[in-house]
Amino acid sequence: MPRELGQVKLVGAGPGAADLMTVRAMRAVEGAQALLYDALVSDEVLSLAPARCVRIQTGKRAGKTSMPQDVINALMLKLARRGLNVVRLKGGDPSIFGRSGEEKAYLNTHGVQVEVVPGVTAASAAAAQFGFPLTHRGEARRLLIATATSKDGVLVDTGWASAAEAQTTLALYMGRDQAAAVAQRLAEEGRSLSTPAIAIENAGRPEARAIPSTLGGLARALAQAAPSGPVILLIGDVAARADLPTAETDHLPRRARL
Ligand code: SAH
Repeated sequence: MPRELGQVKLVGAGPGAADLMTVRAMRAVEGAQALLYDALVSDEVLSLAPARCVRIQTGKRAGKTSMPQDVINALMLKLARRGLNVVRLKGGDPSIFGRSGEEKAYLNTHGVQVEVVPGVTAASAAAAQFGFPLTHRGEARRLLIATATSKDGVLVDTGWASAAEAQTTLALYMGRDQAAAVAQRLAEEGRSLSTPAIAIENAGRPEARAIPSTLGGLARALAQAAPSGPVILLIGDVAARADLPTAETDHLPRRARL
């Protein structure tokens, strides 16, 4: 009899701390027979997998080579065809810059069922840890989740007019090196360079660090802080509500220090 196809779960590991995973995500990892995980997945989360589980790291941090997407896809399919419970573990939420759409489409095409388990995304973890909201009545009516790619220092993406609208919190993923270009682009679209902005490194982890600034000052603040972990940028009035040690807030607009 042909072996039954295994299932693949695309699971959000959250920002790092295992207790920020959903119970469903935790159970999926505990029941995994094969685990393919991204570079952003923490050791604490990986330690939940059973000892006999096959573990495959698919991504390396910043700049180093990662496994190509088609190799990852083929590997998931091969493991599922062996009848294994495959867990594809991603940092944060798999549906936010996590390629869950591509992976699900590929697996479905080959007859493999896919379940997606959501996770706490970096923006939510950052806001929670530093005590500010992403939306706020009268201050932030929308949250825009975006990334920024640039060529020769100029942003190639479209859509910056909506990001520049008042009462928009912009959560910028993979944007650490684009802060100057983003500030320039948003200013061109009419957003004030004094808009509060904050960069958060390693959100959701004990070693998290907040780098508070303004839209205009963010690139310089980042250059000074030189973060080495993953960084999320949050731009908008709500950033001024972050709870920070006083020394870090001295250069912020007055109300940010309250
Ligand atoms: N699926 C992830 C995002 C993956 S894209 C999520 O939902 O969070 C990778 C980018 O996410 C990083 O470059 C960084 O901008 C952001 N990121 C992921 N984890 C982070 C963390 N713990 N702290 C800060 N930023 C993080």
